[in-house]
Amino acid sequence: MRNFAPPAALRVKRDIYERSRQNMLDTQLIPRDIGNPAVLHAMLTVPRHLFVDGALHSQAYTDYPLPIGEKQTISQPYMVAFTAESLGLTGKERVLEIGTGSGYQAAILSMLCDRVYTVERISKLADRARKTLDGLLCRNVIVRVADGTIGWPAEAPFDAIAVAAASPQVPPALIDQLKVGGRLIIPVGEEDSQKFLKITRKESGVVTEVLGGCKFVKLIGKQGWQDDKTRP
Ligand code: SAH
Repeated sequence: MRNFAPPAALRVKRDIYERSRQNMLDTQLIPRDIGNPAVLHAMLTVPRHLFVDGALHSQAYTDYPLPIGEKQTISQPYMVAFTAESLGLTGKERVLEIGTGSGYQAAILSMLCDRVYTVERISKLADRARKTLDGLLCRNVIVRVADGTIGWPAEAPFDAIAVAAASPQVPPALIDQLKVGGRLIIPVGEEDSQKFLKITRKESGVVTEVLGGCKFVKLIGKQGWQDDKTRP
């Protein structure tokens, strides 16, 4: 890893899940080729159980997404680590995340870049995420309630953008808000299965790579899915 400059650390107390986090690295992340030491360190540090309901604490380090209310989920640990690794962060970037959800991925990204701007459309989730992040003294994450399919024009351009919900197409606003050399990670496809795309903005146009298959909840908004069937 080149010139990694660590941002301010989270305040993390010792907890009973330290071995579960190490086990998550050993059985879910390292065997699937997550190799960036800063990403592994962040996954080992952030107390994922605090981002889910108390009744789910004991399942927080398993290899699955988990419900966080409002019919949404916290992504599987591997997908969070894979997204973070694919963004190629060095500690200095301004990163936009679409789909704050629980705030867990934002907390991981906050340890890997200078500042995270995260957008959530459901205010109840955004409020809870803000409280969880505050509890960890996670100061370099800014949470906003808005439609993330149009990005965050006032803070653009970004070095990297991570979209944590699946879209029928790549929202053009997100490409517009990437710096030249910037990377966008986004699941694109049908409701039930998508391709995980990495799009790099170049001087002239974009380069698109398919990183694999995936299944995320829907990105709902102006430049995503139009319907609103996931709301309660
Ligand atoms: N990164 C999250 C996972 C979130 S799941 C975590 O670590 O917990 C995807 C989230 O995207 C859901 O909370 C959903 O409400 C949100 N979402 C869907 N469409 C959105 C949009 N247009 N703008 C912002 N958030 C959106």
